Amino acid sequence: MGRLSGKIALVTGGASVPGLGSATAIRFAEEGATVLITDIDGEGVERIAADIRAKGGNASAMRHDVTSTADWDAVFAWIAGDHGRLDVIVNNAGIAILRAIADFTDAEWIRQNDVNLNSVYYGTQRAVKLMREVGQGGSIINISSVAGLIGVQGCAAYAAAKGGVRSFSKAVALECARDRIRVNSVHPGMIMTNIQKVAMDDNPEIFEQISASIPMGYFGEPIDVANMNLFLASDESRYCTGTEFVVDGGLIT
Ligand code: NAD
Repeated sequence: MGRLSGKIALVTGGASVPGLGSATAIRFAEEGATVLITDIDGEGVERIAADIRAKGGNASAMRHDVTSTADWDAVFAWIAGDHGRLDVIVNNAGIAILRAIADFTDAEWIRQNDVNLNSVYYGTQRAVKLMREVGQGGSIINISSVAGLIGVQGCAAYAAAKGGVRSFSKAVALECARDRIRVNSVHPGMIMTNIQKVAMDDNPEIFEQISASIPMGYFGEPIDVANMNLFLASDESRYCTGTEFVVDGGLIT
């Protein structure tokens, strides 16, 4: 018996390798979940699902732009049609537009918040409705960042979105606690994935400053966040809701 045996789990933003979404989907499947993986990169996410199936896991994939409400409705129609229930959602898809506030365009601000915050509302709202209908509780895992907890220079829009994810998760956790639908936010620090590689190219100075200050002295790996997500997806975390889970090597301690 795996730690997620019998559970149906949706992971968004699961195409990128190395990425937190693909690592989470793979880890969930290893622990017996049926994993539904989505991403705006439809081919990439099909490849991840095929790799999981080739290793004996249960996975299927769908192209999905998390800023599109029509796409969200299609994803939930797929879940309801094929499985009739959802036990876990990991709202993971995200982008990082890191720039000094004076250099920001209004369109960039809106885009940052669409992808990183509005998407979390779309997914959480639909998950709550389905989980309530089924009546067996569930776990909603919203991926924020340490930038949603502390000030990080050059991160104003990203921090606003990620701070919003944290507050939103706490408010929904209170609304859903009696339904045994748990809602938590996960706050990774510096984890070596594609998003970091792009940020590193755009802002080498900020990146060096932050990386020099990691107390453990090295970047985290996607599996470090995947294992936190696994704990929150499983019944081992059954008494945890409305809480922030930081995975950062001591960065914001
Ligand atoms: P990544 O860039 O490797 O992966 C992000 C995935 O999201 C990609 O597969 C991308 O195609 C997908 N995506 C982007 N826009 C999308 C859209 N509109 N619709 C659907 N999918 C979309 O990044 P990652 O490091 O794996 O980040 C995953 C999450 O973790 C993000 O929310 C990010 O903000 C957060 N995070 C990452 C770090 C880190 O150090 N890597 C730190 C803190 C928070």
